[in-house]
Amino acid sequence: MSEQTAVEVLVIGSGVIGSSIAYHLARQGRNVLVIERGREEAIEPVASWASAGGVRRQGRHPAEAPLASEAIARWPTLGDELEADLRYRRGGQLLLAETEDEVRQLEEFVSQQRAMGFRDVRLVERQEVLELAPGLNQRVLAGSYSPIDGQADPALTTRAFAAAARHHGAHYWHTTEVTALRMEQKRVTGALTARGSVRADHVVLAAGGWSDTLAATIGLALPIEMHALQMLLSTPAPSVTLGPVLSALDRKLSLKQLDDGAFLIGGGWPGDILPDRSGYTMRPQSIEGSWKTASELLPAVGQQQILRHWCGLEAISVDGIPFIGPVEGYDGLVLALGFSGHGFAISPAVGRCVADLVAGQMVPELAGLSFARLQQ
Ligand SMILES: Cc1cc2nc3c(=O)[nH]c(=O)nc-3n(C[C@H](O)[C@H](O)[C@H](O)COP(=O)(O)OP(=O)(O)OC[C@H]3O[C@@H](n4cnc5c(N)ncnc54)[C@H](O)[C@@H]3O)c2cc1C
Repeated sequence: MSEQTAVEVLVIGSGVIGSSIAYHLARQGRNVLVIERGREEAIEPVASWASAGGVRRQGRHPAEAPLASEAIARWPTLGDELEADLRYRRGGQLLLAETEDEVRQLEEFVSQQRAMGFRDVRLVERQEVLELAPGLNQRVLAGSYSPIDGQADPALTTRAFAAAARHHGAHYWHTTEVTALRMEQKRVTGALTARGSVRADHVVLAAGGWSDTLAATIGLALPIEMHALQMLLSTPAPSVTLGPVLSALDRKLSLKQLDDGAFLIGGGWPGDILPDRSGYTMRPQSIEGSWKTASELLPAVGQQQILRHWCGLEAISVDGIPFIGPVEGYDGLVLALGFSGHGFAISPAVGRCVADLVAGQMVPELAGLSFARLQQ
């Protein structure tokens, strides 16, 4: 491709969102170019590299429910579809209550989940909770159990989407920064990049936490903020005893056990972003707080050591759910950003929806995630 490249669809960013979109577009026979600043997909510090990999439908915002249901149905066969091992495991998800007051909150939560159509979510009492997750502390009284939730490997999944996109004919430019979007009249017509300008009929902005800088080049203010979210990985425990992914009503926590026995601990503990937004520094108090929180809930965690810690830079939107779809006054532009700490699980559905949108189809599943919702 030359300096004056012309494509049908330009996707900016090759994280799990950009790469899922590229895969679904390429599969429909579209001429797709993905431009990525990094040397490959899913490398530090992008969110799709750092992610905890929870594949959860339980606890979703109602506006995300259709995408979450679609994605959850696809996860079990996604590895076969992409011809890759995604380390997907359907071990369920347990949201725990540790006081009587929290049990009442959980009852209400379970009825909300069922009202959203998540009929398999149910309240489980302590004894069943302990069968699902042996070794939890004495205080745990009950849980909301979603058996079809689970976990997968984010970097492997991102690279599998990208490889499948390339297999279907998508082009990837790595180590190439998009420096600005191009706009003519009211239409977004492409982008300026370190390898020259690119013209496109459709531009998909999927640059994660960095999307706001690019949108600003065409006068579009995105209500997202970059956050550094922390993860901890423990030394491997001698056996795998934890099936479901755990979280708790009154704890900043997501806790899962990987196939090698190591515990992976997240929950939104913050790090600090470098001023140029190229990386992060860890906060000692977040490391300590997160480890203590996980060890208190599941004492087996405390018998291990912290093997590694890291942060990922994620776009948090003003109302905690993503923007997916067109923007009035910016024809040709499609947003897919602001995933607010939970975009990995729904990535297969996001890709399908954006590809259908670009093909000119109605996509009612995106109604609650439009940019226009902020004006309503
Ligand atoms: C610590 C952590 C834990 C998480 N846990 C979960 C979880 O358990 N379950 C879940 O569902 N979600 C989780 N998430 C959220 C999920 O990982 C993200 O929502 C998702 O990965 C976002 O993907 P993305 O493609 O939008 O962004 P990114 O992965 O950040 O990708 C954006 C890409 O755009 C590129 N880019 C940016 N600017 C430019 C430019 N100017 N030119 C070219 N390329 C550019 C970047 O290099 C990057 O590769 C977690 C996130 C973090 C950080």
